[in-house]
Amino acid sequence: MSDPCGKLCVMATAWIDRTRDEDDAWFEVPAGPKLAAIIEETEIERLNGSQQISFLKACERMTSWAQAFSATSMAAALNTYQADAGTNGPGIDSRADDWAETEIAAALHVSPRTAAHRINTAVIITEHHRQIRTALCQGHITYSQATVIAEAIATIDRENPHTAYDIGYDLLEAVLPTAGNYPPARLRERTRHLLDRIAPEAATTRRKKTLRERTQCNLWNDTDALATLAITGMTIDIHALHQHLTAHAETLRDADITLTEEASGQHPGNQSVDGSEQIHGQPTNRTLGQWRVAAALHLAGIAPLGMAPSPTDSHTPSGKRDTPKLDIRIIIDLPTALSLANHPAHLPGYGPLDPDLARHLAASGTWTRWITDPITGHLLDDGNRRLPTAGLARYIHARDHRCDAPGCSRTRTLDIDHVPTYATNPHTAARTLSLACITHNRQRENAGWTTPESHTWTTQLGRTYTTIPYQPLPQPDPPPPEPDPPPF
Ligand SMILES: [Zn+2]
Repeated sequence: MSDPCGKLCVMATAWIDRTRDEDDAWFEVPAGPKLAAIIEETEIERLNGSQQISFLKACERMTSWAQAFSATSMAAALNTYQADAGTNGPGIDSRADDWAETEIAAALHVSPRTAAHRINTAVIITEHHRQIRTALCQGHITYSQATVIAEAIATIDRENPHTAYDIGYDLLEAVLPTAGNYPPARLRERTRHLLDRIAPEAATTRRKKTLRERTQCNLWNDTDALATLAITGMTIDIHALHQHLTAHAETLRDADITLTEEASGQHPGNQSVDGSEQIHGQPTNRTLGQWRVAAALHLAGIAPLGMAPSPTDSHTPSGKRDTPKLDIRIIIDLPTALSLANHPAHLPGYGPLDPDLARHLAASGTWTRWITDPITGHLLDDGNRRLPTAGLARYIHARDHRCDAPGCSRTRTLDIDHVPTYATNPHTAARTLSLACITHNRQRENAGWTTPESHTWTTQLGRTYTTIPYQPLPQPDPPPPEPDPPPF
């Protein structure tokens, strides 16, 4: 493997702080109100360097202590949801955990996935293996270290349902006493080694399962009209693929340089084969990363937008995309579409687009465009579709993009949701419609959640959230009002 240091970078596996800080007021004071009072009274600017570090560690001890209570509270909220399951009607029992996740995600402003992970960790730490909570409260381990241990316990629970408690107990006996000496990544390694030693038969099964679960190809959107495609697989396969892409990228780049040199000798001012303008005799100024992406697209038979990857390529002529037809929509405001303004546009599911590219795409017959009023953001033109109801539905999907429930980020299988309900307000218009995933639309009442008005959600536990709808074309805040002139 490549080594950024140019030599082997070796990080110690674990370490112990041997400094004695007996003179510090917070030395060996257990986390709790007394330590909190000492922390609050301490004048940090009067501490010397060593004391500042010692004080930092005392603060972290308090943080771990508070996080133990946070975990207990999270597990308690889950228990409340599970205890109430079924009291609001059928269909909620198996989903109590999901609703608890949504509640926690909404309260803490995290994704449901993060909430689920934190709840699982909390339950393991505070209920299944309370010795982890004790170590946390005593400041022997941090919450990150506790999370690593809880993840290992969760793995045991999945793989060895009948002997999980015993294996977990043995693992904690081996790991917990010294866990505080390890950074989380090293602790994860150590925990895994010890687990393989304690339950060797499960190790092989786990590796096969991990390969099956984690071999995947994921797509997500970045800013500036970029998206990322990430492939995770067997190390050896992925390295081979990367080498192949690099070699192909270098071939494309070398061919580009050669062709540029020829072109500059024979036809001054010529355009490059990829449609981009070139300076005489200068190769296209692309990074190797860009060439690698071009190589990947080229191998798939796709010409990168606005440029052909290979000078010698005959089946992907310059400027044409040899791709399957995609129904791609774009939201653009009227002045920008008419080139009278340069507001950013939006590609639903992809993110913001710069106005130049947006106009270029909106002008193309193969794209569906929505043109909106620049002030209200309301729909002015429903593209080239005939049926207004279907058009309105498509517009709502593009406008709102994801489930309106707080803490839910689902962007697929979404219902068009009448808020308030259609029975109380039988009016179908953009302003009375929003999106909700199947769970949050159809199971809402059973779960004891309500939406009394637009973008307002009241949870089973009686908490109310106002959601701020997704803004495909966000408007800048209005300027602050002019201050009153001075009275003289
Ligand atoms: Zn939802």
